[in-house]
Amino acid sequence: MPMTPSWARRAVIEPLWTAVSGATLVPHWRELERTQYLSPAILQARQEERLRLVTATAARVSPFYRQRLAAAGFPNGLSRLSDLGALPVLTKAEIRAAGAAMLSTEVERSSLLEFRTGGSTGVPLRMLISEDISHMRNAAARRSDLWTGWRVGEGVGAVWGNPKLPQTIKERLRAELLNPVIYLDTMSLSAESVQAFARAWRRERPTLLFGHAHSIYLLACTAEELGIDEIRPTGILATSMMLLPHERQLIERVFGIPVFDRYGCEEVGLIGCQCERHDGLHINADHVVVEFLRADGTPAAAGERAYVVVTDLINDVMPFIRYRIEDLSASLGRPCSCGRGLPLMSRVAGRVADFLVRADGSRVAGISLIENTVTSIAGIEQMQIVQERLDRLVINLVPSPAAAATTVPALVEYFTATFPGAAVDVAIVSRIPQEANGKYRFAICQVAR
Ligand SMILES: [Zn+2]
Repeated sequence: MPMTPSWARRAVIEPLWTAVSGATLVPHWRELERTQYLSPAILQARQEERLRLVTATAARVSPFYRQRLAAAGFPNGLSRLSDLGALPVLTKAEIRAAGAAMLSTEVERSSLLEFRTGGSTGVPLRMLISEDISHMRNAAARRSDLWTGWRVGEGVGAVWGNPKLPQTIKERLRAELLNPVIYLDTMSLSAESVQAFARAWRRERPTLLFGHAHSIYLLACTAEELGIDEIRPTGILATSMMLLPHERQLIERVFGIPVFDRYGCEEVGLIGCQCERHDGLHINADHVVVEFLRADGTPAAAGERAYVVVTDLINDVMPFIRYRIEDLSASLGRPCSCGRGLPLMSRVAGRVADFLVRADGSRVAGISLIENTVTSIAGIEQMQIVQERLDRLVINLVPSPAAAATTVPALVEYFTATFPGAAVDVAIVSRIPQEANGKYRFAICQVAR
């Protein structure tokens, strides 16, 4: 049995901790529980109010935004959501170039939480937020954790690269009392580590399985292979990347429950999450405005795949206004049958860098190529497509036991037909390495845009 029952965490320890520490997680979360059922019109009005505040603050305290907002004709901040279109989109390169000029000049630096992000592009960014913003983000994550059936106080099994383990005695105590988590480090996933994870699961009995989508898939594969059946989550939350259809099927077969998709980024936190209806992702509209923009910057229609551009409505320390994440998705433009007013977006179709380019300039989703080949060509355990130049592709292939002399020629034939004029090489590898953050990339396009 776990040391502390979950009802005690929920009903006794958390309220005590909140009262003693002054942490704002619980009050923020209670507010979010209520706002998720507000009407779309009211949610929009609240967004507009927060947009006014955050852009007015940015204009006042951040040298970078003071200049940017003034140049767009809004020296005192924006008044309406529709004013966002007057500002240029913000890129990661601009944030790096701006450095400290992005930040609020009015906050005491030592009071802030600092962390670094890597992201799939591997370009690091230094992030600063206040403790209150951190609690707000955790509150939003908790709201959507609850959609999976998980209850406050229950444990979590996290499948994560480079897990941040509690260090100090105070941190450990807090983790055990409030937020018990067992980890499976995806940077060293093996039969032994999965068995150890299963033992920890039996001991602690968490209910939510949470982690990078592909890592959850690898865990499910290993559990099935080894006949491990102790890992019995009541909810599965897959984050950070797409699941291929056959991966989703395998996870759902092994654990017997559907996967919930979640989407977010370290820069702005939670962006969207599926509810129990599994019909699109509810946008975390309390904290972010999400725009879907075409490459030319014009708004995309509902259902049209476009760039995800986010505005953080709560970060007044390091504001993110019209930040273009290099991901593609679409607004669904219709409500969810669950009754929540939070708008819906589609699953993320992939990072822009996951799209390969044909000689005629057309783009093709790496994930679709993988899907097509793994389902039609026998002998593929795992693969990754690297487009080095317009006319050269390298396929990193981990062969499965079913691989035959025909596997490689079939792959070459498929890719040569899909990319006319390109040279295609297949490299047999024993494994496809993860990125530093534990993510796995299906396709990497190195062709300059
Ligand atoms: Zn819903």
